[in-house]
Amino acid sequence: MSQEIPDMAIWEYVEDDDRAWIGVDLDGTLAEYHGWRDDGGIGKPVPIMVTRIKDWLANDKRVKIMTARVATPNMDEYGKQVAIIRDWLKGAGLPEDLEITCIKDMRMVELWDDRAVRVILNTGRISHLPTPSI
Ligand SMILES: [Mg+2]
Repeated sequence: MSQEIPDMAIWEYVEDDDRAWIGVDLDGTLAEYHGWRDDGGIGKPVPIMVTRIKDWLANDKRVKIMTARVATPNMDEYGKQVAIIRDWLKGAGLPEDLEITCIKDMRMVELWDDRAVRVILNTGRISHLPTPSI
């Protein structure tokens, strides 16, 4: 049985351009996270991550917000989360039209995330090496 994916998420995926992209997790990576808020509000921006994204965009890198907030088949919830994220991006001084996704694809070359564990290619061993930039 295939997983139901919101139409808007499919649209973003199908209409993607073919450039490599950097995924940036939201809660706990780009924004402070101290537990889920009942109103779905997002924590304070993490300045170093905001600066990184601005630098990437200034250097014509493609950046997507990669967040489980939009990993829902409920279109009302999906739309609500996208609106919350876009408002937050604007408040953080970032482009509010940044792509937002929960889908990893072949063009994702980096993922910045507070939960990810990096392994050395083809070994399963943990890597402490810095991530190469695109
Ligand atoms: Mg996180």
